[in-house]
Amino acid sequence: MDERKKADELARMLGQHLDSLRAAGIEWLPAAESTTSPSMPLPVVEQSSLVAAANASPFSEDHEQRQHALKALQQQVANCTRCPQLASTRTQTVFGVGPLDPELCFIGEAPGADEDRLGEPFVGAAGQLLDRIIVASGFQRQEVYICNILRCRPPGNRTPTPEEAHHCQEWLEKTLDLVRPKFICALGGTATKYLLGMDTGITKLRGRFFEYRGIPVLCTFHPSYLLRSPEKKREVWEDMKTLLTRMGRPIPGK
Ligand code: SF4
Repeated sequence: MDERKKADELARMLGQHLDSLRAAGIEWLPAAESTTSPSMPLPVVEQSSLVAAANASPFSEDHEQRQHALKALQQQVANCTRCPQLASTRTQTVFGVGPLDPELCFIGEAPGADEDRLGEPFVGAAGQLLDRIIVASGFQRQEVYICNILRCRPPGNRTPTPEEAHHCQEWLEKTLDLVRPKFICALGGTATKYLLGMDTGITKLRGRFFEYRGIPVLCTFHPSYLLRSPEKKREVWEDMKTLLTRMGRPIPGK
């Protein structure tokens, strides 16, 4: 059990114990007796304060509640019809995948045909290339969070319109608020444009850090662009090294 789960379990057990004391008519608990002022009245601690203190531990932040909220958000998104064309042509919505509190979150553009069919982001050819980038950077796919600017496939894989990106922005913001990645890697011009509100081309922005709500964001090329222009892989690797250095992680193979 990791530290966070232990702390959550401890808070839950403490809450149960205090409930049983309250049920037995005990409303107050004495604090530890002071050795320096034994004649002072003993301080008392209310049940709610104890539970709040346990919940305030950096390890006991409500992971489970966020997980539930993320599931509820996913359900809400599955019924979203804000973009009528996308809602009528999609097979299903494609939410993000990955753990809460990841070191790194990759944000791409929109689902493609494979993603639309399977309901998971980055599972087609570009996804396989992203997997290789992830592993080459010293992560496993399941350790990072992966999502897109849009949750529905634009027909023919066309570029999302500003209106569609605007419609889906709320879902992205809520997802990132719940997932809380420490670093973000924006993949391609569309992710950069709608995440950071910057119209400058990705060629000029790649390899540079920006911020999204206090989270450092590194921009690089989208893997589908690398499939068309494999000679750009070297630049993406340079960008990943810049990111890993900023994250304080080792650079594999160095
Ligand atoms: S792209 Fe986003 S906002 Fe548009 S219909 Fe799909 S889920 Fe809704």
